[in-house]
Amino acid sequence: MHKRVIVVGGGNAALCAAISAANAGASVTLLERAPEPLAGGNSRFTAGAMRTVHAGATDLRNLMPEVSDAEWARTDFGTYTRGDFLEDLGRVTRYRTDPELAERLVDDSLPTLRWMRQQGVRFLPLYGRQSFTVNGRVQFWGGLVVEAWGGGPGLVEALTERARDVGVSIHYANHVRSLTGDARGVTGVTVASPVGTRELSADAVILACGGFEANAAWRARYLGPGWDLARVRGTRFNTGDGIAMATAIGAATRGHFSGCHAVQWDANAPEYGDLTVGDGFQKHSYPFGVLVNNAGQRFVDEGADFRNYTYARYGREVLNQPDQVAWQVFDAKCDGLLRDEYRIREVSRVTGATLEELGQRMDGMHVQAFVDTINRYNAAVREEVPFNPTVKDGRSTRDLTPPKSNWAQTLDTPPYTAYQVGCGITFTFGGLHVDADARVIAQDGAVIPGLFAAGELVGGLFYFNYPGGSGLTSGAVFGRRAGENAAR
Ligand SMILES: Cc1cc2nc3c(=O)[nH]c(=O)nc-3n(C[C@H](O)[C@H](O)[C@H](O)COP(=O)(O)OP(=O)(O)OC[C@H]3O[C@@H](n4cnc5c(N)ncnc54)[C@H](O)[C@@H]3O)c2cc1C
Repeated sequence: MHKRVIVVGGGNAALCAAISAANAGASVTLLERAPEPLAGGNSRFTAGAMRTVHAGATDLRNLMPEVSDAEWARTDFGTYTRGDFLEDLGRVTRYRTDPELAERLVDDSLPTLRWMRQQGVRFLPLYGRQSFTVNGRVQFWGGLVVEAWGGGPGLVEALTERARDVGVSIHYANHVRSLTGDARGVTGVTVASPVGTRELSADAVILACGGFEANAAWRARYLGPGWDLARVRGTRFNTGDGIAMATAIGAATRGHFSGCHAVQWDANAPEYGDLTVGDGFQKHSYPFGVLVNNAGQRFVDEGADFRNYTYARYGREVLNQPDQVAWQVFDAKCDGLLRDEYRIREVSRVTGATLEELGQRMDGMHVQAFVDTINRYNAAVREEVPFNPTVKDGRSTRDLTPPKSNWAQTLDTPPYTAYQVGCGITFTFGGLHVDADARVIAQDGAVIPGLFAAGELVGGLFYFNYPGGSGLTSGAVFGRRAGENAAR
């Protein structure tokens, strides 16, 4: 007898769960709240970057057989061991990450990417964002080397096609409102669709319907005052429904409810993500420039670490500044270092031939304080240390607060450019308590029979920050587990 499995959501975690349940013999229904043109959740907004353990070229060639011999020959991918991934997770979460979930994420990362490949997802090296060319050789840095072909849209398209091929019944514009059952067992869902509200029964339900980043009231409630003013980088549909409906039947919550992933995001970006621009509103080359607020003051160490390890925290820092905005300032020496997103049409940018002229064009800026800050910064740069963007070069400032610890270069070559950024929230960290098999745990600590969860709405993995590219890997790892277990 086939198990009937309902999957709630339509992003990476939901699609991986649905495919894996169907592969394991279940009859699977996937209910996605968004209408088809807007489906795919935050997953569709991503660049498709996925963090995985790898031992270098052999592992990666299996994953990316399309890459030519010439490309392999000129590229140094390094290795990224189990220990590296666990250490990165531990370090950026201040060792709060749940060890059981962290080990499952790390140990299943490469097998799950291989599994995804078998399901039709193609991968390629993440050249643009994670590598630099030094003496003719491409060198990767930061442990993140793989992206899905076609980015987030390509990933969702490939998984959706596979889900259909293995018989998953996909329903868009189907908004799941509640779970049937209680902490002793879940037996279905209530779902609202354009044709009305109905109850569907199932042997198991997998919640993969995102965090609460698109719910302004919950943001203010859990993340704190001011967070209702943040822009949402991705889908408008992740409003915490999965967390609400599971806790309503007795599920336990877990993790960093006052924490989230939030980045510097164009100050004039729309309220929710725009699929035509994707993640182009992000502005991630700040380690090579100087970040100032409207009072003309610096407020973070722009070069504290590779941007992978700071970008998810600095959105919050910008939200805390006057007017909730800041400016990333560069000079002409940085032109070749700026990522593609600085060249999109929808960019908030001003330029000036002098620092004074630039300051006058920065709306709301205290010009004299700004010029003084840059002059103090310029005087503090350790010119004697060579600049190298591929390593933490230690080219820092001397006696400056806050310091700039790496990649400090004087701003002295016109034209000067400033990009206005605000805070864009990516996803929330707090969520449901699950075990390493993606089973949802009740408030009394027992497993809730028939209820699984995967992806953004799982709590306990990420605190304070997360290593870039772990979100999709987490959704795939726990989604795949949830699907297999739900089908049993
Ligand atoms: C701009 C941007 C760039 C990013 N880049 C990366 C990256 O490169 N690498 C990386 O690892 N992570 C990245 N992330 C984070 C990543 O998007 C998430 O970690 C991951 O996609 C979450 O997957 P998910 O399946 O859990 O959620 P989603 O993909 O958000 O899917 C949740 C789905 O649930 C649906 N839903 C919500 N409520 C209901 C309901 N009541 N009933 C039915 N359906 C419902 C939504 O419509 C949505 O489709 C990025 C995020 C953004 C916004």
